[in-house]
Amino acid sequence: MPAQLIDGVLLSQQLRGEIAERAARLTAAGKQPGLAVILVGEDPASHVYVRNKVKACGDVGFHSVLEKYEADLSEAALLERIAALNCDPAIHGILVQMPLPKHIDPSKVIEAIATSKDVDGYSVLSAGELVANLPGFRPCTPYGCMKLIESTGVDLRGKHAVVIGRSNTVGKPMALLLLQANATVTICHSATPDLGLYTRQADVVVAAVGRRNTLKADMVKPGAIVIDVGMNRDDAGKLCGDVDFAGVREVASHITPVPGGVGPMTITMLLMNTVESAERVHSSSQECPSQATGMEPKPGVA
Ligand code: NAP
Repeated sequence: MPAQLIDGVLLSQQLRGEIAERAARLTAAGKQPGLAVILVGEDPASHVYVRNKVKACGDVGFHSVLEKYEADLSEAALLERIAALNCDPAIHGILVQMPLPKHIDPSKVIEAIATSKDVDGYSVLSAGELVANLPGFRPCTPYGCMKLIESTGVDLRGKHAVVIGRSNTVGKPMALLLLQANATVTICHSATPDLGLYTRQADVVVAAVGRRNTLKADMVKPGAIVIDVGMNRDDAGKLCGDVDFAGVREVASHITPVPGGVGPMTITMLLMNTVESAERVHSSSQECPSQATGMEPKPGVA
């Protein structure tokens, strides 16, 4: 029997409904959640991504600010802008769209965002919180993958999960989230000699590589859950994932399609982190993140 589809569009709609209700409660209390999105330069794909994020904010009742800057914006000017947003009480999440122009150091920019507003979960402190099992913002794509796995109703405790890919934004946080859910986790990467040797033992496989047909039917254990993070183009230019969907669907128990699986969940989890950030500020009734966390401002933040 073919695998059951894990529908990321449907799950996103459900979660966005819940987020909208939480946002409405905050707004009624005079604390509307707010997201600031910063775009530097003219990368066409980035323009589409930020437009989608700002539209998603409007759909769930958030306040959003889109700040667009020319590609020659100086690094100092960008850091100054982030410092101002860090203390703007109307803003609960700050997202700087990557990639940035070459003269701007992305890690300096990410680290300049207050941890309490790091709704992308990319900063070193957010990563540390994840490693230490502390509350904090989880990177949106792996966080979305966890929600997709949860939606199958399968308990991860004691299951063997294999993550293919070890990037800081997807593979590594994915592995840590699976570990937190009590799975036994294996991480594979480009130097893994026989990928199938590992994936054939897995109850859950998360493919986050960026190369189509990385995971084929003969590499999957019957009944496994398969989450496809990859975003690639096939020979006809059609969007596809890392998984040979048609083949693997015949072996797995549950599988995410591309498109319509992980993709829609990424923005949804950005909204989730932002509403959570607004709720934290509301419950602590503190506005400025340097006060809220008790931390000194970070380098680059005035
Ligand atoms: P990345 O930074 O390029 O990382 C890719 C990872 O795959 C690396 O760890 C690499 O290993 C590993 N890899 C490469 N070839 C491999 C092979 N033959 N066998 C096993 N592992 C291999 O990419 P990323 O940012 O993590 O993204 C991965 C994919 O997810 C991309 O297609 C990206 O577009 C997609 N993505 C989708 C969403 C979404 O919302 N749907 C969000 C983020 C990313 P090394 O570390 O050894 O080089």
